[in-house]
Amino acid sequence: MSVVEQVGERVRELTHFINGQRAAGASGRFNDVFDPAQGRVSARVPLANATDVGTALAAAKAAFPAWSETPPLKRARLMFKFNELLEAHLDEIAEIITSEHGKLFSDAKGEVIRGIEIVEFACGIPNLLKTDFTDQIAGGIDNWNLRQPVGVAAGVTPFNFPAVVPCWMFVMAAACGNTFVLKPSERTPSASIRLAELFIEAGFPKGVFNVVHGDKGAVDALIEHPDVAAISVVGSTPVAEYIYSESARHGKRVQALGSAKNHLVVMPDADLDQAIDALINSAYGSAGERCMATSVAVAVGRVGKELIARLVPRVRSLRIGGGMEPDLDMGPLITAAHRTKVTGYIEAGVAAGAKLIVDGRGHIVPGREKGFFLGGSLFDDVTPDMSIYREEIFGPVLSVVHVPDLASAIALVNAHELGNCVSLFTSDGGSARTFARQIKAGMVGINMPSPVPVAWHSFGGWKRSLFGDHHTYGQEAVRFYTRYKSIIQRWPDSIAKGAEFATAATK
Ligand code: NAD
Repeated sequence: MSVVEQVGERVRELTHFINGQRAAGASGRFNDVFDPAQGRVSARVPLANATDVGTALAAAKAAFPAWSETPPLKRARLMFKFNELLEAHLDEIAEIITSEHGKLFSDAKGEVIRGIEIVEFACGIPNLLKTDFTDQIAGGIDNWNLRQPVGVAAGVTPFNFPAVVPCWMFVMAAACGNTFVLKPSERTPSASIRLAELFIEAGFPKGVFNVVHGDKGAVDALIEHPDVAAISVVGSTPVAEYIYSESARHGKRVQALGSAKNHLVVMPDADLDQAIDALINSAYGSAGERCMATSVAVAVGRVGKELIARLVPRVRSLRIGGGMEPDLDMGPLITAAHRTKVTGYIEAGVAAGAKLIVDGRGHIVPGREKGFFLGGSLFDDVTPDMSIYREEIFGPVLSVVHVPDLASAIALVNAHELGNCVSLFTSDGGSARTFARQIKAGMVGINMPSPVPVAWHSFGGWKRSLFGDHHTYGQEAVRFYTRYKSIIQRWPDSIAKGAEFATAATK
């Protein structure tokens, strides 16, 4: 089944996915979706209004009683089937991601594989939902607990990971017995529709997983709707904070993951070849549009001079083009507006006195002159007061900050308001241990850039990179998508006293 309807020659009209099928929606509002490598509109996505959101929530609510009573083992069997379908359609989903996001096909495949890993983890849901039992807390009394689904859950996801971030949410929510309404990014909407189709093909009941496209209006309708019990959001910090506080005000359980400004600290004793490969990959891969991207290199002591000298030719020689072409390092940015925002940061960095030693502005890819491309940029002598240091740029721009020692590097990272992930490159175990223990960030890499936890650990930042108590996927997801219930039981002595033959005495 095709994801979209063909309208005219190029521009397709996308649909929502409600109660097991594609649905046009009632709002009459649309947004353009771009092919960023060509810089042209490729589709129109409907923007749900409160009625559309209500229809999706009604489907999820109707599906909840039967689904929540379905034994976890049966849910797991459907997950196994879904897993097979994702493997079979891996290339197709990756191609959809590349066509709307612009990231390299190899990178998009990597994203889908990380989604498959979440599904593999969810296949173990019978064991994950197993709880504790204490026999005989007092004479004849036992205490145990249950983890029960919360009800209808909703998710709001960002443009940069159109397959894996939805999988963090709906896969774990459904495995735990909830039903789900996803509001994916309106800039990369198609992958989630394909996931929803494959979910139905795997045998999940209609209404367990629904998708409504939209913008703030659709999100507000989810927040305000009384049938939504829990909301997960991944996006920029202002949006995450808004959804966190508004959802809490409406009495909902909420987890909200926000922006990042990730540092990679290079010690003088680091293996520089490794550190430079790590910086190039994590700062410029996916054009810097990853929440785990490195945007600040912290050069400790004498390492700074050589680090810069060796980074410059690597940044200048980045291979940039359309995501389906082989042997490239990065594709375009998501939209022309986002590219303008990133170049605005480069101008602000220059104005603030940082040294722009590689300037990626004005980069043209032959044959793709209208594509939203930007070359890699590298700033030296960046200081913490500059906007290019303080704010998330979300583009292929790396800032180098110099500090004298490890303690200053730790103090610098800890003073930043964001704390998603951080890395240290060193050959000294003592430095690594001190760093890992003292650093204020949710995910730490030692000689590893972009330390994304595997599916059975959990993902999330600290400080203003995460609002709420729960990180995402792994056991944290099981906690978020279930309610804890403690049960204490005492049964009186057995009432079976054997057969009685005498007429009951009244005295
Ligand atoms: P965004 O904040 O613009 O949008 C995220 C989602 O919120 C989208 O679905 C969007 O439609 C919706 N939204 C946008 N404005 C809204 C508003 N005013 N009210 C309610 N909903 C609104 O983010 P983006 O540009 O799509 O994605 C990039 C951002 O996401 C970056 O800041 C990046 O760091 C962050 N991100 C964080 C993580 C993480 O794990 N912490 C992962 C991926 C992306």
